[in-house]
Amino acid sequence: MSQDAAAIATAVLPWQQAALQELQRLERAARLPQTMVLQAARGTGLEYFAQALTGWLLCQQRTDTPCGQCSGCRQWRAGNHPDALRILPEGAAQEITVDQVRAVTELLSLSRHHQGYRVVQLYPAERLNRNAANALLKTLEEPGEGTVFLLLSEQPRNLLPTIRSRAQVITVPRPSEAQAREWLMTQGISDADSRLAIYPGQPLRALEDEDREIATEFEAELQQLEAAPSELTNVARRIASTRDDATRFLEWLATHAWSDAASHLEAGPSVGTTCAVETYQLTLQARGALRANTPPQLAVEALLVSWLALRAQSRKRPNGDMHGGSR
Ligand SMILES: [Zn+2]
Repeated sequence: MSQDAAAIATAVLPWQQAALQELQRLERAARLPQTMVLQAARGTGLEYFAQALTGWLLCQQRTDTPCGQCSGCRQWRAGNHPDALRILPEGAAQEITVDQVRAVTELLSLSRHHQGYRVVQLYPAERLNRNAANALLKTLEEPGEGTVFLLLSEQPRNLLPTIRSRAQVITVPRPSEAQAREWLMTQGISDADSRLAIYPGQPLRALEDEDREIATEFEAELQQLEAAPSELTNVARRIASTRDDATRFLEWLATHAWSDAASHLEAGPSVGTTCAVETYQLTLQARGALRANTPPQLAVEALLVSWLALRAQSRKRPNGDMHGGSR
């Protein structure tokens, strides 16, 4: 998990508040599920939720928010609570292995250090390999008194059915557009809208500033393509190896073309404006093709062919400095 998320271990994100309160209500009614799949869309703060829930469960007071004073809170905040376990994928395969699972079940056979809960997080739970999952099934069914398993997943479709069927599935809500924007602004992000255009509904990813890296990567690809149009197929394969990748590229190009069109317009209509607007239209066509189930690479290839033609045309005209894609 990121340092930031760890540091804010007791804070829940605004759009997660109600879901956390519901679990607190269940706990007070002695009906808290002991094995939960916590699922959330990527970039919406799943780890924050899991950490906030864990922090609350480890507090010995368990008022509405962790008290911050008890030994449970102090050890949790210091990152060394003996009853808080977190299992992450290991090795080249980046899997949660049977050895890791055995180590945990052995620990669980020992008595707890505190009177409160013992919380085991597995993240991401879909990385449990089959052997590890099999070794864990019995424990998930009967975790033992005071033990809570949190199986975190941003790709719940990839969870093994045997795991899912033994857990209560909790869907952590995603933010509304307004909540996402507002939260980013409280994080000191002034261009929240343009970042959310690249990562719609994913404020945590928008915050990570990945968009800048991605912009650089896409710009480099387009520059390379212009220098060597014969590379078209390879470029499209790199940009659009999956549907998500293709969508991200199209969102980036659309946002980029749109802001180019706006800046050209300020200087009066020009070839640049036309080219930016036409580039934007190409992204709309490609999105339509994706929705109609055209394979992502083909949709992006078709766009790039038209984009290259636009660029070539504009170079022939005077005032041909056109920023439809790369700068
Ligand atoms: Zn406390």
